[in-house]
Amino acid sequence: MTPFSSERWHRAEAWVGHGVAMVDTPALVIDLDAMDRNLARMADFAHTRGMRLRPHAKMHKSAELALLQMAHGAVGVCVQKTDEALALARGGVSDIYISNEVIAPAKLQRLAEAVRAHRTRFAIAVDSVQGLEALAAALAHAGVVQPDAIDVFIEVDVGQGRCGVPPGDAAVVLAQRLAGQPAMRFAGLQAYHGSAQHLRAPGERAQTIQGAAEAVKHTLQALSAQGIEVPLVTGAGTGTFLNEASLGVWGELQCGSYLFMDADYASNQATLDAPVFEHALFVKSQVISRGAAHAVCDAGHKSHAIDSGLPTVAFPEGLSFANGGDEHGVLRSTGNGTNLPAFGETVWLVPGHCDPTVNLHDFMVGVRGGLAAGVVERIVRVDARGAVG
Ligand code: PLP
Ligand code: MN
Repeated sequence: MTPFSSERWHRAEAWVGHGVAMVDTPALVIDLDAMDRNLARMADFAHTRGMRLRPHAKMHKSAELALLQMAHGAVGVCVQKTDEALALARGGVSDIYISNEVIAPAKLQRLAEAVRAHRTRFAIAVDSVQGLEALAAALAHAGVVQPDAIDVFIEVDVGQGRCGVPPGDAAVVLAQRLAGQPAMRFAGLQAYHGSAQHLRAPGERAQTIQGAAEAVKHTLQALSAQGIEVPLVTGAGTGTFLNEASLGVWGELQCGSYLFMDADYASNQATLDAPVFEHALFVKSQVISRGAAHAVCDAGHKSHAIDSGLPTVAFPEGLSFANGGDEHGVLRSTGNGTNLPAFGETVWLVPGHCDPTVNLHDFMVGVRGGLAAGVVERIVRVDARGAVG
């Protein structure tokens, strides 16, 4: 039995066609009009700049939204985890890149079997000989014999200090090992700088990505000196994609959060002439208790992630949100107090960080026509919810 056959799921499906007021709280709601504008803006940007777009589906974990992005020109999607990849593959997504290191034989075995099934094109990142050999062993064990059955990117640490080989010769060693593996195609370099995404000042982001570009160029030179061609450099997120797109080193963008835009991203100072993305993901909540100078809503950190800060209150305006624990949010007026929502009133929150917020929910409620008076158009499954392996 899937979690989606639950009573809760059926109740949610019954909201389709009804006004947004019907939607029970707390609920994760997508403003579909805002999402479609975000979708089109990023697709247009990539198209105009001649960049491939491979959005990061770790953000929404939904096959339906991945397919929507591909229908708007994305070449495929990225994920971070093996089971995310397999969940989206089951949902019909045909081109999936695990932009992360996987070394556990059990995980690689699941992946290798899906590669052998041949319905989905998979890619994966590596940053060690051990990782490469573990992947080779899994492919051999699963009987994957087709040449170039899986795309493999070598990850370079371009300054974040997370995964990736150091810039330069270390990538040559891996590329040479890869060349000896007929089932693997060397697809290029993974060059993503995560901690640059939320640097608030555009100048700081530009400088950091300039440094990342130098690291990539140094690696490209080392590979070229050994006669190794690099088909593609892939990376970038919602905070810095303008920088990667301007530097002539990257050929593919991996932005994820642009589709929903969380409160943390709204705190970045915008780069001049950058495409503007709108908040499209909200937590609908309800006031369940009132004090003289505060209201309490039914959304705590079991309905939204707080790793990147608390939610902001979109509507009603002029309210601050304080952490009330797992199940509660405490709302106070930032003005004279007359705008405090009444008992039973709806409060719309913008999550601090969209990716881990989505992972708290089985489904998202897609609303067309605005949050005030729109209609539920569809229920979007979070297919890879909890797929952390
Ligand atoms: N690429 C990789 C490897 C990531 O880890 C992430 C997010 O953490 C992204 C791209 C997308 O970033 P964002 O959601 O900030 O656009
Ligand atoms: Mn994120």
